Amino acid sequence: MNALQEKVSILLIYTGGTIGMIENSETGVLESFNFEHLKDNMPELKKLGYLIDSIQFDPPMDSSEMGPESWKKLVRIISENYQRYDGFVVLHGTDTMAFTASALSFMLENLSKPVIFTGSQLPIGMLRTDGKENLITAIEIAAAKENGMPIVPEVCIFFENNLLRGNRTRKINADNFNAFRSYNYPALAHAGIYIKYDTTQIYHPVLRKPLKSHYLLDRNIAILKLFPGLSQQVLESILNIPGLKGVVMETFGSGNAPCYEWLLNMLRDAVSRGIVIVNVSQCIAGSVEMHRYETGHKLLEAGVISGYDSTTESAVTKLMFLFGHGLSREEVIEHMSCSLIGEITIPENVLHK
Ligand code: ASP
Repeated sequence: MNALQEKVSILLIYTGGTIGMIENSETGVLESFNFEHLKDNMPELKKLGYLIDSIQFDPPMDSSEMGPESWKKLVRIISENYQRYDGFVVLHGTDTMAFTASALSFMLENLSKPVIFTGSQLPIGMLRTDGKENLITAIEIAAAKENGMPIVPEVCIFFENNLLRGNRTRKINADNFNAFRSYNYPALAHAGIYIKYDTTQIYHPVLRKPLKSHYLLDRNIAILKLFPGLSQQVLESILNIPGLKGVVMETFGSGNAPCYEWLLNMLRDAVSRGIVIVNVSQCIAGSVEMHRYETGHKLLEAGVISGYDSTTESAVTKLMFLFGHGLSREEVIEHMSCSLIGEITIPENVLHK
C-alpha cells in the first residue's frame, strides 16, 4: 500500500448555499466558488493531511429549492462513492439543511460512515466567515476514527462548535453563527480546543450490514400548523387535497388542539379516508403527550397519532419515505411510532405497554 492509499479519504459534496461563495480577488464580487480549486483557495485543508476530493452540484442550488430530487441526487453520489471514501462532508445552504439531513438519515439505511452536513452564515470568501471553521471541523469529524472505525457513523449537522444528529436538528436563527439546535437530543460532540465526542449518544448500527440506498419518496404530505382562529374552510381544504396521504399537524404545547366538534369531525373523517395525521408540537423543545389534557386526548380519539418529540422536518421526511415505499396506513403508523434511526424518543411508559 502506498502512502496515499493509507490517508483518510473524504468526499466533499458542494450542493450550494452561502458557504460556497468567494470574493473574486480582481473585482471584489462574491461569486460561486469553484470547488475544483478548493485546495488552492483554502491552503488550510492541506494541513489536515487527508485525501480530499470534491464534487459540485451544477449549478449550485439555494437550499430553498432543494427537495426530494436533490436528496436522491445526494444519496446517489454517496452510494456510488461509498467504498472509496472514509467519510462525506455535504456543504449545503442552511435554510433547509435540517430537511435534507433528516431525509438522508432515512434514505441511507445501514450507514456506517459519517455524512456530515455543514454550511455557513457568511460566504467562505468573506473575512469574518464562519465557513472555514465549519468546513475544517466537519472534515475532521468525518475523518475521525477510533480503533479503525468511524467515530460518528451517522448523518449529522456540524455548525458553530456543535455536532448534532441530523434528524433532530432545526434551524433557529437567520442571523447568528450559532444557527442550529437539537433541543430534544444531546449534541454528539462539541468542538473547542479539542473535539469532544459523546460516544454514549452516537448511533451505532447493531449489525454491520451493507449500505442500502433508498430513492422512493412520496410528496403527498402536508404540514398543518394550528393557530387560534383557524377556519373550517382552511382545514377542510387541506384535509381534502387530492391524493393526500399524510399530515404533520403542528399543535400547541404538549400536543393540544381546540375541541371544536367541526375540527374533530374533519380529522376523524380524514383518518377514516386513510390519511395518517401525526401530532408534533409547535414548541421547539419537549414531547407530545396526548394523554395529558382533554384537548390532546380528543385528538387521540379522533385517530391522530403521536409524533412524540419529533421535529417537523423529521416527521415530514419520514412520512415521505414510508409512503414512498408503498407501506399501508397501518405499517406507516407502526413505523411512525418507533425510532428508525434515532429520530424520536419513545417514552418508557409507551415502550412497555
Ligand atoms: N439561502 C441560503 C440557502 O439556504 C442560505 C444559506 O446558505 O445559509 O441556500
